[in-house]
Amino acid sequence: MEFITLNTGDKMPLEGFGVFQIPDAAQCEEVVYNAVKTGYRLIDTATAYGNEEAVGKGVARAVRDGIATREELFITTKVWVSDMGKEEDAYQAVKASLKRLDMDYADLILLHQPMNDYFAAYRGITKAYKEGLAKAIGVANFYPAILANLCKTVEVIPAVNQVELHPYFVQEGAIENMKAYGVVPQAWGPLAEGKHGIFTDAQLTAIGDKYGKTPAQIALRWNVQRGVSIIPKSIHVERMEQNIDIWDFALTEEEMEQISAKDLRHSEIVNHDDPAFVKFIYNLH
Ligand code: NAP
Repeated sequence: MEFITLNTGDKMPLEGFGVFQIPDAAQCEEVVYNAVKTGYRLIDTATAYGNEEAVGKGVARAVRDGIATREELFITTKVWVSDMGKEEDAYQAVKASLKRLDMDYADLILLHQPMNDYFAAYRGITKAYKEGLAKAIGVANFYPAILANLCKTVEVIPAVNQVELHPYFVQEGAIENMKAYGVVPQAWGPLAEGKHGIFTDAQLTAIGDKYGKTPAQIALRWNVQRGVSIIPKSIHVERMEQNIDIWDFALTEEEMEQISAKDLRHSEIVNHDDPAFVKFIYNLH
């Protein structure tokens, strides 16, 4: 495992584990426990996923069993849009998340979407950061101009911006923009949520054959090799093991370019430019 240094000076594992779409509490607790046992040290949850309590229980069990200490683990959660209307609401949302996680602090708190009054909400999580409730703060889905504007106005530059990044949505310009502000890019949907036939992609398969790796492993390796943190999700232990087994080989520059050339230049999962999508997000919780 490699680590990346955040603008706070703290280190974050370059690869972590996501828990989106694991609503069943007992299953989520088990999955988180298994992920830590498999070797993942970063767990990415969110208020909106409805599973913070289960994540907290899975982590606590792993700590109790001596698999990892709390200090070795990096826990991320996110403030949802409905708590982003006022500074105090966002601040209280952080406290509520910590209560559900049963933790004294989170390693990273993100604003989940660039919606509602995100400037006020960012001040709320900044307050939580200053009080030590969060070791770092950041944002998610902040597209380049929105991120640049935020960075120009805030007291604490976001440590991380979590956006959709995979071989079919490369976003090289967005990554350059993040790096210019010292913001670490983190990929959500690093396996494209299984879209585009990623697991049987002929090109990823051919490159994988050379290294004895699967298309999933090639896609994940490509992101970390360009300095992008990844948080793949799987409820299956054998896939957890597969997805973390990407640290013993390196893609050539030519292979990196071949994979980047798969870029469709748009998302087929979300569309933040579409008012109907914004409406959908507001109606979620
Ligand atoms: P993802 O990790 O790209 O893909 C997950 C899907 O791929 C699941 O259906 C999983 O199935 C399958 N899968 C995983 N490994 C596999 C393998 N080796 N072979 C075949 N299938 C495999 O998608 P994601 O969960 O949406 O994204 C990852 C994390 O990013 C989330 O869990 C969440 O923490 C975060 N996220 C954040 C945002 C945001 O707005 N900030 C949005 C989306 C996601 P099984 O589980 O059945 O194995």
